[in-house]
Amino acid sequence: MKIAVVGTGYVGLVTGTCFAETGNTVTCVDIDQEKVDKLSNGQITIYEPGLEKIFQRNLKEERLVFTTNLADGIRDAEIVFLALPTPPGEDGSADLKYVLGVAKEIGKLLTDYKVIVNKSTVPVGTAKKVRDAIAENCKVEYDVISNPEFLREGVAVEDFMKPDRVVIGTTSERARKVMSDLYAPFVRQGNPVIFMDEASSELTKYAANSFLAVKISFMNEIARLCEKLGADVDMVRRGIGSDDRIGKRFLFPGIGYGGSCFPKDVQALVRSAHEVQYDFRILESVMAVNEDQKTFLVPKIKKYFGDSLLGKHFALWGLAFKPNTDDIREAPALYIIKALIGEGATVTVFDPEAMNNVRKVMDNVINYAESQYEALDGADALIIATEWNEFRTPDFGRIKERMKGNAIFDGRNLFDLGEIEKLGFHYESIGRKPVA
Ligand code: NAD
Repeated sequence: MKIAVVGTGYVGLVTGTCFAETGNTVTCVDIDQEKVDKLSNGQITIYEPGLEKIFQRNLKEERLVFTTNLADGIRDAEIVFLALPTPPGEDGSADLKYVLGVAKEIGKLLTDYKVIVNKSTVPVGTAKKVRDAIAENCKVEYDVISNPEFLREGVAVEDFMKPDRVVIGTTSERARKVMSDLYAPFVRQGNPVIFMDEASSELTKYAANSFLAVKISFMNEIARLCEKLGADVDMVRRGIGSDDRIGKRFLFPGIGYGGSCFPKDVQALVRSAHEVQYDFRILESVMAVNEDQKTFLVPKIKKYFGDSLLGKHFALWGLAFKPNTDDIREAPALYIIKALIGEGATVTVFDPEAMNNVRKVMDNVINYAESQYEALDGADALIIATEWNEFRTPDFGRIKERMKGNAIFDGRNLFDLGEIEKLGFHYESIGRKPVA
């Protein structure tokens, strides 16, 4: 099939590359000329495990091309995916200006039937708005459908190639057939392609992300309670996770959720609910808990240093909002850094992939180290903000040698409490019971 993907960011590039990988010819369109030039020249623009290899292969086979020209991009396509940003507007609702702007342009360009697929995360009713925006200038037949994306950054290729499920919102039989054919190679093991009406499909994506956010904030509150009641969240987690109804995943406490999706999607769903006079109380609380959780380590650090961080120097490991990505959008690490600097401290950071992105937003206020160990030089304490694998079993001897102090504040509960205390560190994590 011939496919166009409009918007070549995390979702668009993975979508385009994976569709090319199953033999389709894909044109990715983006307004960012620099990005399009880089991608056309074989330079990948995001870090995503496994993507580079299939990107290079499909680029070479000319099944994957990049352009800034929307007309060229969609001319021969049977299916046009919209993978455009839907950032929060001033009131927290999803801002549809990119999606509707492109829809209007597409309306002027359509000359034959195409399926326009909305892959961006959008509120209920957007498919209709897109349809109307296209209709302003369009005489030919087309379908607009919803196909939310559930990939997780860090395992995006795997998620896309073998999705747990594909959700498609449409009542058009013609579009349904096109989409069934397109996704057939991805669901050969029998995972479902779930067809539904477009409102349910649009809401499914928000419900999925919001439910996961509920799980995270719930466990973070249990962790806080553990600290106050003298229980250990690791034990509680194992105790509840073995119940099938609860499940083992997404029960790890930490320093809150970040990224480009959970914060904005929870907020947008609360906003959508307000618009229909519904007060989504659980999600209001989830947002408030998460807001506090991002800097939960800071009062612990202050307490340890006798309430003043003036002149203290910190090493911080991990900037990305989660491991295996260079994405720093809404990353808790950035909130911690700002809080420490606000208290008069200095910070040296290390992240395996995300440092370039952080340089773009806070170049002058922090120092960047070449390695996780270099970051420790002269530090009064080490703070861990992202659970990259290389931070899990570090050389504690080297850590001790290079640090000035001996305190570790771990926002991801990476180390065994007993072991680390035996090594002579002062160690604080989230919701765990110190060894007596
Ligand atoms: P992104 O910011 O990484 O990428 C968006 C791309 O669209 C950018 O490259 C930008 O230059 C381009 N763009 C903006 N305006 C354009 C225009 N007029 N024409 C062509 N290109 C244009 O965003 P993303 O993370 O890929 O997210 C896209 C959508 O997918 C959002 O709605 C998001 O909520 C949703 N989503 C994201 C993820 C994720 O993990 N990142 C997962 C599922 C769903």
